[in-house]
Amino acid sequence: MITEILTRWQTNPTDWQHELRQAIREPIQLLQLLNLSPSELPQPLVLKPHFALRVPRSYIARMRKGDPTDPLLRQVLPIVAEQRQSPTFSLDPTGDKLAERVPGLLAKYSGRVLLMVTGACAIHCRYCFRQHYNYSTGSSLLAAIAFIRADSSISEVILSGGDPLTWTDNRLAELIHQLAQIPHLQRLRLHTRLPIVLPQRITHELLNQLTQTRLQPIIVVHANHANEIDESVGYSLQRLVAAGITVLNQSVLLRGVNADATALINLSEILFNYRVLPYYLHLLDRVQGATHFEIPKLAALELLAQMRIALPGYLVPRLVQEVAGMAYKQPIL
Ligand SMILES: *Cc1c(COP(=O)(O)O)cnc(C)c1O
Ligand code: SF4
Repeated sequence: MITEILTRWQTNPTDWQHELRQAIREPIQLLQLLNLSPSELPQPLVLKPHFALRVPRSYIARMRKGDPTDPLLRQVLPIVAEQRQSPTFSLDPTGDKLAERVPGLLAKYSGRVLLMVTGACAIHCRYCFRQHYNYSTGSSLLAAIAFIRADSSISEVILSGGDPLTWTDNRLAELIHQLAQIPHLQRLRLHTRLPIVLPQRITHELLNQLTQTRLQPIIVVHANHANEIDESVGYSLQRLVAAGITVLNQSVLLRGVNADATALINLSEILFNYRVLPYYLHLLDRVQGATHFEIPKLAALELLAQMRIALPGYLVPRLVQEVAGMAYKQPIL
């Protein structure tokens, strides 16, 4: 299986772009692929949500057929619960707008800036805290690079979005080249879900770019459940690690997906099978549309205690919450 995948990736390095275009965008079509009818769902579907459905077929292939409660399906399927409003859930829960210095560049934490290079993602996660973000100002990379060049306290640039790996290898190469010319930058970090949802994205060319720059590369992937990590995902993660890239994972604690000690323990174990370390476990950011995913703080702490009992310390992620205006992600204690 692995050799088959390897051969295919090597013969056609742009397979991932084809997969991206073939992503499913219709809720009914997604259900059909899973042998489900809308009446079997615990809640009615939303056929035209404000944040459109998007799921790559290879991710759908990892869902259990005929199971309306599948933890991967739950992350992507628009249901009426997301129309519930709550006064404590907002359009911009993490204060992104306040932290924006030039369009697309967020400076919240000391020494690090976050560059939102695109609004595009391969998958649309229903709980995403940037689902209402207005990305129409995208074309200001020059201003962002000038900002970074002018501030010598910045040592790390985080490419985020959206998903920076929806950019082509050529486009990324150009950006990395420009960043590497800024003398005070030491590290280049990518926050991306693509190694998990579209593992073919990890092309030979991408590995070259990330390892041949003078900047030290770090990739923070985003997996929430062990079922997301099949053999081809594992293979992609392993290739990143083998190339010398530090690979970490961040997850969001989600009701109906992974709010269960066994699920979280299995996730840490399978990540480390491929040498990926759990980094953050986030409490849900209170974004409008996601009230049904929230887990109370006390329940989250209880889950973390169970992880501590079952796992070596390095496989226990840091339980954190992003609080607008604070100098670092807040540990939950
Ligand atoms: C989370 C985040 C970072 C990175 O924080 P680390 O604690 O270094 O992982 C940087 N900028 C923004 C805006 C963030 O939300
Ligand atoms: S991949 Fe990340 S940025 Fe994109 S929708 Fe999912 S959580 Fe949001």
